[in-house]
Amino acid sequence: MIFKAVVIENDAQDGYRAEIRELDESQLPEGDVTVLVSYSSLNYKDGLAITGKKPVVRSFPMVPGIDFAGVVDESRHPEYKKGDVVFLNGWGLGETRWGGLAEKARVNGDWLTCLPESLSPKDAMAIGTAGYTAMLSVMALEFNGITPEKGPVLVTGASGGVGSFATALLARLGYRVTASTGRPDTDYLINKLGAAEIIDRSTLSAKGTPLMKEQWVAAIDSVGGQTLANVCASIRYGGTVAACGMAESLDFPGSVAPFILRGVTLAGIDSVKCPPEKRNEAWRRLAEIVDAGLLGEISHEISLDEVLTTIPDLMAGRIKGRVVVSVG
Ligand code: NDP
Repeated sequence: MIFKAVVIENDAQDGYRAEIRELDESQLPEGDVTVLVSYSSLNYKDGLAITGKKPVVRSFPMVPGIDFAGVVDESRHPEYKKGDVVFLNGWGLGETRWGGLAEKARVNGDWLTCLPESLSPKDAMAIGTAGYTAMLSVMALEFNGITPEKGPVLVTGASGGVGSFATALLARLGYRVTASTGRPDTDYLINKLGAAEIIDRSTLSAKGTPLMKEQWVAAIDSVGGQTLANVCASIRYGGTVAACGMAESLDFPGSVAPFILRGVTLAGIDSVKCPPEKRNEAWRRLAEIVDAGLLGEISHEISLDEVLTTIPDLMAGRIKGRVVVSVG
């Protein structure tokens, strides 16, 4: 059976390229569950994969798409049967394993999760890897004892997918959120997501000093680089920074001073290999906190055919929030 997919190729003759193509089901990789994909989403990592800007893709041809939600079509896995509504994010999807930007996916059933009842496949992809990563970041702050009454929390890359969710989740949990962004859209960040104030991201990206004015009790950082170094240097005594991204840079040109002189904790966030218990807890919390109104504000929908023309906007930081891809 033929199905449509985004396919990335890389060879000496034509170089690195992505195109929409029809594939035969016999070309699907090994796996014990085949899923009819309903929705996928576009994440920064998908942009890196599709453009080849960073070596995200490990084998070719590759179907990108780090997450998907859909309906089981065939299963040899004991926990899943035809008709089950499932989703998947992480586990190397779209990097080492064919991903969600295709009408069909075949995967290892151990990686799948059944959708919480209150979420539709579209909701799950509006949240997607970005919302789930933001939730893991909030959980890391909580694990380190951060509560709303302790003080304000900073979110960097606040208009992006992870940042939008981090801002909205924290605000809904009662935190006072400072949103750092290059696109100060007060209607979106303050009125719709619930940030208390906005700062221009340039205030955090210039070279700073090992210890700066103590401003926030915690931060969720999706940009890395000099910004992350300055964020760590600006955290109050005993605070926590959840580092989950690298939209600015993979580098960390920082100092240990905040860690050894202010007892600041730097908590690393990985969504890809996160153990199932934590993964399920994050999705349970998301289903509790997020509602249709918020998902409508944060996400907009495109079709599979529009993926390749949308990627340049995503990589240029011209897209607010999340892009949900309607696949099948
Ligand atoms: P988006 O492209 O949606 O958002 C990234 C945001 O970062 C932009 O919207 C922009 O926010 C900000 N930004 C972009 N370029 C720069 C820059 N040069 N300096 C400072 N800020 C910048 O991406 P996602 O939200 O999907 O992902 C964000 C990051 O998180 C990525 O690095 C991604 O790889 C990572 N990630 C990590 C995961 C994990 O498991 N740890 C899982 C998912 C994502 P604004 O316009 O508000 O300034």
